[in-house]
This record gives sequence, structure tokens and C-alpha cells, in this order.
Amino acid sequence: MDCIFCKIIKKEIPASIIYEDESIIVFNDINPNAPVHLLVVPKIHIASLEQVTSENSEGISKVFEVISKLSKQLDLKDGFRVVSNCGKNAKQSVAHIHFHILAGKELTCKMG
Ligand code: 5GP
Ligand code: ZN
Repeated sequence: MDCIFCKIIKKEIPASIIYEDESIIVFNDINPNAPVHLLVVPKIHIASLEQVTSENSEGISKVFEVISKLSKQLDLKDGFRVVSNCGKNAKQSVAHIHFHILAGKELTCKMG
């Protein structure tokens, strides 16, 4: 399967990895939109939020545990934003579910 995030997970292509465990990998976005721009990616290939089910949602809840832990480790106490783009209108560009963490500056109120 030609999925760029699966290739990063399998270490077939490099990424600047911030955190990794058996089910989650976190790395810097290659094209950052904020001083801190991380991608939190479940290792299981799920195309998008639309594909989350009771069978595969365990990895998704783990995502939020990791985000909370990292927010403390990375000292994001001034705040951060979590975004998951799903589908065409949201401009999802990588079809492997992921959660952007944006931080390190005052973010705009614009959400769409
Ligand atoms: P989306 O547009 O699907 O919500 O987010 C995909 C994100 O993946 C984009 O912000 C893009 O910059 C990032 N990205 C795409 N290809 C790569 C890559 O090869 N390495 C890294 N580190 N980030 C990537
Ligand atoms: Zn994948």
C-alpha cells in the first residue's frame, strides 16, 4: 500500500520522531504551520475519522492520552490546538488518520 505515513511507521522513509510506542508515532510536520506542529499518528492504517469503529477506536483513544502526556513534556501550558482533517472539503491530504498538534504561538480564531 502506497501510504506515506505507513512508510514512516515502518522507517522506510525518515521523519523527525518525537514519540513512539507500540500503537502511536508522533513526528514533526514537514511543512509546519506553527512553531510546534506535530502529527500524532496511530500505527494501524485507518484512512480517516470516517472509518473509526468500535473495533479500531482503542488506538484513537490512545492518541488523546499521548497528546495529554506530550503537552506536559513539551511544556505547551500556554495552549495548543488539535485538528484532524477528514475528507475532501477539510482538505485531508494524507489518507492515514492523523491529528495535528499546533502550538507555540497565539493561534487565530479562524477554524474554517
Ligand atoms: P492533512 O492535510 O492530511 O490534514 O495533513 C497531512 C500533513 O502531513 C500535512 O500537514 C503535511 O505537511 C504532512 N506531511 C505530508 N507528507 C509528509 C512527510 O513525508 N513527512 C512529514 N513529516 N510530514 C508530511
Ligand atoms: Zn497508512
